[in-house]
Amino acid sequence: MAEDVFERPEPADEIHVVWVNAGLSCDGDTIAMTAATQPSIEDLVRGAWPFIPRIILHNQFLAYENGAKFLAPFHAAAAGLLGSFILVVEGSIPDESNKTWGYWAALGTDGETGQPITTCEWIDRLAPKAWAVLAAGTCATYGGIHAMEGNPTGCMGLADYLGWNWKSKAGIPLVCLPGCPVQPDNFTETLLYLLHMAANRAPMIPLDEALRPTWLFGPTVHEGCDRGGYYEQAEFAEEYGSRACIVRLGCWGPVVQCNVGKRGWMAGMGGCPNVGGICIGCTMPGFPDKFMPFMNQPPGSMLSSNAVMTYGRAIHALRRFTQASLNREPEWRGRRS
Ligand code: SF4
Ligand code: SF4
Ligand code: SF4
Repeated sequence: MAEDVFERPEPADEIHVVWVNAGLSCDGDTIAMTAATQPSIEDLVRGAWPFIPRIILHNQFLAYENGAKFLAPFHAAAAGLLGSFILVVEGSIPDESNKTWGYWAALGTDGETGQPITTCEWIDRLAPKAWAVLAAGTCATYGGIHAMEGNPTGCMGLADYLGWNWKSKAGIPLVCLPGCPVQPDNFTETLLYLLHMAANRAPMIPLDEALRPTWLFGPTVHEGCDRGGYYEQAEFAEEYGSRACIVRLGCWGPVVQCNVGKRGWMAGMGGCPNVGGICIGCTMPGFPDKFMPFMNQPPGSMLSSNAVMTYGRAIHALRRFTQASLNREPEWRGRRS
């Protein structure tokens, strides 16, 4: 199958979203999603967007149903009886083979054996039947915090579990939406894109080498940061509470691909360095191990900030001179008598 060719589902007014958040997870991505506004999850559930199917959401935190009634669509999806669905996975995937008894993560109980159905079993059952698969949050994409060195679960992200070249039965690669948690609008906007694909209104979703949507994860935090001007002028904060650039306090923004600086966190507000929080690289496959210890000045940033120091301060002084001139009215203006 060619890279940009995929099968569309039968035209339908509705498409199911089956959300497994029983990985090793804090459920932060589900909670984050409730803050989305572009679009909101309510808009997608209620079919407010024209020309695309509305979604029927199955998420254990947001469901009215519980117990067997809640799990019924999951079993139907696994049996191929639910119709087309998008599988969302939240939380890292443990290695259930690295011990002799017990389990790391599960969702529901098998009616015949009385044993928990592990999260890995759900993924094995659902991923081959899904029209598309979305990994929500850095735990689900690349392993995240739970997968840091020394953890006993052997856990990993979905890209490692399914394989980086995995494709759904429709020919769509795994879509990774990292972030700890995922930026709410990044999630719903990507879901919206997939719904446009399903409705024959969009081409194959463009993804980078880490399976992230390119239009969301192309630029760095630095390129969209409100403090970029202070960096350029070599004004670096030595302690928190300053409005200057916080690279010396440990901000990894210059090398981290994330749009939170531009997009903010909720309704355009916030965005880690914009509001004084160092970027710790949570959207990157190397997170967290490669970014530790947090709060140390990142290697390499020393070089760039030292380079900025050599001309940034001179430019800053010249700009102050220009600014002082621009703050004065032209001399011909005003009363002459
Ligand atoms: Fe929680 Fe972060 Fe993992 Fe999401 S990525 S489940 S927010 S720890
Ligand atoms: Fe770049 Fe971080 Fe400074 Fe913002 S705070 S300008 S992202 S180094
Ligand atoms: Fe994560 Fe950095 Fe983006 Fe904040 S700015 S969400 S810490 S990658």
